[in-house]
Amino acid sequence: MSERLLTSSKEDFDRLYSEVQGNPEAFWANRARAFSWLKPFSQVLSGKPPYERWFEDGITNITLNALDRHVQFGLGDKRAYIFLDEAGNEKVYTYKALLEAVQRFGAALKNLGIQKGDRVCIYMPMVPEAFIAMLACARIGAVHSVVYAGLGKEALFNRIADSKAKGLITADVGYRRGKEVPLKEIADQALDRLKGIVSIVLRRKGQLTPLNPSEHDFGELLLKNPAPCPPEPMESEDSLFILYTSGTTGPPKGVVYANAGYMVGVPTMFELATHVQRGEVFFCTSDIGWIVGHSLQVYGPLLLGITSVIREGTPDWPDPGVLWRVIERYRVNVLYTAPTAVRMFMKYGPEWPERYNTESLRLTVSAGEVMNPQAWEWFTEHVGKGRIPLLDNWWQTETAAPTIGIPPGYPAKPGKAGKPFPGVQADVVDDSGRSLGPNEPGNLVLKDSGPHRFRGIYGNPERFERYFKVIPGFYVCSDAAMKDEEGYIQILGRSDDILNVAGHRIGTAEVENALMGHGLVAEAAVVGIPDELKGEAIEAFVVLKQGALPSEDLALRLISHVRETLGPIASPSEVRFMERFPKTRSGKVMRRILKAQLIGGDLGDTSTLED
Ligand code: AMP
Repeated sequence: MSERLLTSSKEDFDRLYSEVQGNPEAFWANRARAFSWLKPFSQVLSGKPPYERWFEDGITNITLNALDRHVQFGLGDKRAYIFLDEAGNEKVYTYKALLEAVQRFGAALKNLGIQKGDRVCIYMPMVPEAFIAMLACARIGAVHSVVYAGLGKEALFNRIADSKAKGLITADVGYRRGKEVPLKEIADQALDRLKGIVSIVLRRKGQLTPLNPSEHDFGELLLKNPAPCPPEPMESEDSLFILYTSGTTGPPKGVVYANAGYMVGVPTMFELATHVQRGEVFFCTSDIGWIVGHSLQVYGPLLLGITSVIREGTPDWPDPGVLWRVIERYRVNVLYTAPTAVRMFMKYGPEWPERYNTESLRLTVSAGEVMNPQAWEWFTEHVGKGRIPLLDNWWQTETAAPTIGIPPGYPAKPGKAGKPFPGVQADVVDDSGRSLGPNEPGNLVLKDSGPHRFRGIYGNPERFERYFKVIPGFYVCSDAAMKDEEGYIQILGRSDDILNVAGHRIGTAEVENALMGHGLVAEAAVVGIPDELKGEAIEAFVVLKQGALPSEDLALRLISHVRETLGPIASPSEVRFMERFPKTRSGKVMRRILKAQLIGGDLGDTSTLED
């Protein structure tokens, strides 16, 4: 089955796509049968959209397939993870060792009164214990809710309160750019207003971190609770985890996923997108605080039985060569990263990757925002050197796995996200749901996106249903997009970021790409501000490459550069220079903060702001 996913050409992939399209249920059922079940399913798909149920009468546990199965089949001594801290110290976990730790910690959670269905909040840095905690929850059927360890106390409090979590697992500190992040202190402040929460603390600083009598020491729990801890029998549609994501309006949404659908769909899409195989080393630079971390650092790689490198810290500290050094040291085969990182590499220059041996690298994939052609070309020339492709993947928290993209072997079109992956039906439609023709901008919608997609918004069915009601018959992604003659999808930005200048819809991403096409620009962000004449005027913010100096003259040159590239309608009325942008912890520029700086007004939810 697996080999069929490794399409090697456009024709091959298109054929697979049509085959799956012809009978998606058969495709997913086949994929599902490759996993171990405590009770096999007899129904593949039931229920009506948006409340579909996959493999409904089956019973399984995702850890059975992510851990036990590999140990049973002789992979116990294979490395599941190589964890690196900021200083480069490594800790290796084989599949056997990971299973043992997960069972011990699962038993500990049970002994502390955590039961199937209880929510457990995990607020931890990128250390092995965070992964063990997530897997231990899944093992006993508790629903983990990971909160990114860069978020502050208010964000943490809101997420614990909204999910009515019974437990909180944290660490005393995280490390970022050589400095301590006082996680426990933040967690304590969040817990101040909450009662009766089971609190577990990983003491990275040992005795230097005092615990009060009601708190439990992570390390001690691991030591004193013996394995085994059998996998809790989970019905397919039982919740696996919750992950909060910011909405444009209202408080963050707790996106909920189901056990079996996620277990079957995520590794399938992961394999389709990267062709990663047993024996390969995979390095994803995301964080468990995001969906990419859940799917491509925790569950996807373990379900496929591969080896992952996990690193705590930022990609340019202690120096901008650190990522390439890790690739050289561990002979990484596939790097999964984000456009922000690629643009950062570009800013520091080709001498950094050139210093290291990256021969082991077979493929690089980037996801999360538009991969602008300039950065793509820079990477292809200086790092890829005609050998290592850089492929785009589009997905969202809600879709749980790569959804649209360029599979290996498929011709890329820089600046375009790519094609829907097998099992996905995507289209660009107008507000009434009419399918638009080539190069007509509209709403990106999905009809099918596989068994892994989200099942709800925790405690808020109306908010869940809203995704499917805005344009009846579709899941609306809130991205503006455009198809071309060959069906490649180009993302123009979030629909809420779309500018309307004199009646012309202009994607922020398009203008930003144009600015970044100028040799001196490292990063660009544009926002629309109200303009009496044009409806909206474009204001541009720019971060220059190292060594370039801001000046009025340069601002004018950038404006005429955009005018030349995209036409006068798209040229910014002003260019402002910044040292760096306000970004979310996942690296997305927060345009609404830039906008609020210009025109005042509400900053909105800033809980995901990096700084
Ligand atoms: P999140 O749910 O935080 O992962 O953000 C999902 C959003 O990121 C999407 O709705 C897009 O706006 C954007 N996004 C993700 N991947 C891509 C991509 N490859 N190209 C363009 N935008 C992307």
